[in-house]
Amino acid sequence: MIISMKPGATQAQIDRVCTRIQEMDFQVRSIQGDERVVIAAVGLGDVMHAIGVLRSVEGVENGVPISAPYKLVSKQVKSGRTVVQVGGASVGGDAFGVIAGPCSVETEEQIMACAAAVAGSGAQFLRGGAYKPRTSPYSFQGLEEEGLKLLRKAADAYGLYIVTEVMTVTNVQLVAHYADVLQIGARNVQNFPLLKAIGSATKCPVMLKRGQSATIKEFLLSAEYIVTNGNPNVILCERGIRTFESATRNTLDINAVPVLNELTHLPVILDPAHATGQRSLIPPLVRAAIAVGADGVMVEIHPDPERAWSDGAQSMTFDQFAKTMDEIQPYLQLWRAGRPELACVPA
Ligand code: PEP
Ligand code: MN
Repeated sequence: MIISMKPGATQAQIDRVCTRIQEMDFQVRSIQGDERVVIAAVGLGDVMHAIGVLRSVEGVENGVPISAPYKLVSKQVKSGRTVVQVGGASVGGDAFGVIAGPCSVETEEQIMACAAAVAGSGAQFLRGGAYKPRTSPYSFQGLEEEGLKLLRKAADAYGLYIVTEVMTVTNVQLVAHYADVLQIGARNVQNFPLLKAIGSATKCPVMLKRGQSATIKEFLLSAEYIVTNGNPNVILCERGIRTFESATRNTLDINAVPVLNELTHLPVILDPAHATGQRSLIPPLVRAAIAVGADGVMVEIHPDPERAWSDGAQSMTFDQFAKTMDEIQPYLQLWRAGRPELACVPA
């Protein structure tokens, strides 16, 4: 971090800042300037906290971090990319991950039909919410454990892996018992007790969704919570952020993919369904995900979207999903060829 002193700060004030820096386990690396002194400090401590403390010390004008506040998820600590292994499948490796399924698990018939469509398209991950974070308390809240059982039954019947949301600390073990990937929803991206619990209580892979108002830095700090608490198996999911634009439910931040790929070694996937709220927009954005170097996508499908209990407008029919999966095959060949580390894999 860099601490700049006010013009005319006294030597006693500068010494005091240096003492505070050392007390917080950082080392003072250089002190420069005559009229306006600038102090550089390095260390593995909590930079944001230290800056907050130092800004309140007399004579300090400002403090800014020089390295990212997240460490374990940063590319600076790991050169290769993380491949999150989910049973016999993976996200972040040589296969583009496709996660598909209904917004909510509704009935056995519905989830079985979805699983058949997912497997039939060649995808490996079945999504479906059993615990639903709904804006309105009057909306369908999910089938809870019964939904998890139905998901497991459907996934096992078709050799798929489950991605499903966990909303509370008390449910982590229960959901991890049935799920292959634990989803942390956009609304919980800064639920720090939940992030810590998922980090420490399980090694089950996690798909962390970006909050609708989370910056990329905040998003990565949330991922850091999970990793630093003991679970390195984190997949990041960009699902749209809230902007002034009202033509779509949210705005898909396509920038986030290359930005995250520059900053972190964790895999990144896109969720165009929650980003747009509109099924006609899903196929072009799935193609965009491939073009921009995402590791996969998550989409919603339903046997009868008009009658879906949640998110019907953004759910594709099985035919639309199958068509989308067919259409992306040539793009996936380019995707494989475009990854330097996969250059030797025949397209
Ligand atoms: C979901 O995936 O069903 C969901 C609720 O997503 P988000 O948390 O991104 O709104
Ligand atoms: Mn949904």
